[in-house]
Amino acid sequence: MGKDCKTVWNNCLTTIRTHVGEQSFKTWFEPINPIRLAHHTLTIQVPSQFFYEWLEEHYVEVLKKAIINELGESGKLEYSIVVDKGNNKQKPISMNLPTAASLRHSPTSTHTQPVGNAVAVVEKIANSTYYMPEAKVIQHPQIRSNLSKLYNFANFIEGDCNRLAYAAAQAVAKNPGSTSFNPLVIHGGVGLGKTHLVQAIGNEIKQSLPQKQVLYVSSDQFITQFVDAVKNNQVAFFTTYYLQVDVLIIDDIQFLAGKEKTQESFFHIFNHLHQSGKQIIMTSDCPPKNLQGLEERLLSRFKWGLTTDVKVPDEATRIEIVKSKAKQEGLEMPKNVIEFVAKNVDTNVRELQGVLVSLMAKSSLTRKTIDLQMAKDTIEDIVKQQPIDLSVEYIQKTVASYLGVKVEDLKAANRKQEIAHARQIAMYLCQQYTKSSVKMIGELFGGKDHSTVTHASKAVEKKAQADDSYKATLEAIKAKMKVSSF
Ligand code: ADP
Ligand code: MG
Repeated sequence: MGKDCKTVWNNCLTTIRTHVGEQSFKTWFEPINPIRLAHHTLTIQVPSQFFYEWLEEHYVEVLKKAIINELGESGKLEYSIVVDKGNNKQKPISMNLPTAASLRHSPTSTHTQPVGNAVAVVEKIANSTYYMPEAKVIQHPQIRSNLSKLYNFANFIEGDCNRLAYAAAQAVAKNPGSTSFNPLVIHGGVGLGKTHLVQAIGNEIKQSLPQKQVLYVSSDQFITQFVDAVKNNQVAFFTTYYLQVDVLIIDDIQFLAGKEKTQESFFHIFNHLHQSGKQIIMTSDCPPKNLQGLEERLLSRFKWGLTTDVKVPDEATRIEIVKSKAKQEGLEMPKNVIEFVAKNVDTNVRELQGVLVSLMAKSSLTRKTIDLQMAKDTIEDIVKQQPIDLSVEYIQKTVASYLGVKVEDLKAANRKQEIAHARQIAMYLCQQYTKSSVKMIGELFGGKDHSTVTHASKAVEKKAQADDSYKATLEAIKAKMKVSSF
């Protein structure tokens, strides 16, 4: 007799409990239902897409650990998301998503087809009418658009922070390839709606122009596919695949920085698609011109179209977002609570959603209606959790990617100015936002002395006081680490 999913999940919970705080455990793990165990894959049901994203972002490592403990090295985790609670006539609709951890950990069999691999990752659906039945609209069966139906224009709130991006996105969705917004590049910090907007374009096109081949891919996926294609001598196949696309959406192009060979391939695909009047849409976490490590000839291509940004929403827009999300989740929230949340969570929309989901979980657990006190406590809990999630490694990665240097350089003895600059900032942030001692931080920067760390921190503070643009860089990096206003 094999183990059943409840036992396995209960054992997982025991492991998880030792790794996360009481409040986080209650909020994020108690609402989960184990629903199936088959072929070393445990399927757990989570209340919403956001809940899933939050778990993946904050708890993927501990989940992985728990699963491996229970199911061994081949253990996998899959999420089932209830996207429509259903009524008496209809069964609830759910969709299944694999965890990033299990994918990283044990490559799926699709790896033998380098091109199809990452594209198929999200569209693993069970009993769902939620995704369009793709087969009907697709002539080239190998293209799967990789879009999530959760992102559309109707559930995107427009505000001063995103007006131009929103308008451009809508224009492109109506006339892909034939507006002057080609390519369309949307940039901005995390959680500000870039992925949502570009996926909304894709979904809209698929609906109104079903003959168009739409492909959404993160640049991470693009890189992996390219590297696999090179390894397997299938670069031509890889390229041909992309050349069939009418609308290419490539998310988070900052990850292409420093990947010269991949950029070269992208440049080729880009030119070819653009020349044939195909639409290209990209996002980036900073203005393209600041993307160090991206080739000039590629950057100059972006000027052909429109580059625009999304900013942190102002309070009025945040109120609208909270209202809309609460309505979407069927959440009763008094006006004063809506305003309180919108006023106090001013980092980004993702965080705002985090607070709402957390409130929802809390109110259903305690069977209390949401009130101001509950909102205050929740925000405080989430705020308190922030620094705990930061590791030296995470900060090094964030700083390196933002400033366009390599993590190895931060750890090396390289004294080149831009690297020394990045290293100082990274050391400073590690001292501010981790619990590691200066000695430990020094160790993790390739065995540097603790006095180097102390010195770096002081230097950064001094420079930030004296130089506004330096300070702005620092703030931007902090925002990227999501600690800006806390
Ligand atoms: P980014 O790609 O910029 O990091 P996302 O598009 O992933 O951000 O947005 C984070 C979350 O916030 C998503 O769930 C998205 O649906 C939501 N979101 C962001 N901006 C808005 C908005 N203006 N209206 C409604 N939802 C939004
Ligand atoms: Mg995104």
